[in-house]
Amino acid sequence: MAATIFKQSRSFRVVKVKAPGNRIVVHWRKRNPKGAHCGKCGTLLNGMPRLRPVELNKLSKSQKRPERPYGGMLCSSCTRQVFIEKARAK
Ligand SMILES: [Zn+2]
Repeated sequence: MAATIFKQSRSFRVVKVKAPGNRIVVHWRKRNPKGAHCGKCGTLLNGMPRLRPVELNKLSKSQKRPERPYGGMLCSSCTRQVFIEKARAK
């Protein structure tokens, strides 16, 4: 037996879609997940899409995270700190 999905719950959001005949129809869509956070300080990462996995698969790799070392893992200020620590360690 298939599980019943309660669309009128908090896990769904209302999207008003314009249908033929200038009708406005309510569609229920799943909410977007929380954004990616920095692994060191926990702030929300910039340049990271906030999409469901199905939508993420449609994006190219460079659209999913910043193109730099630790891009998508650490925020820019934490990345800078890591670089300084690595330079001092040598
Ligand atoms: Zn950080």
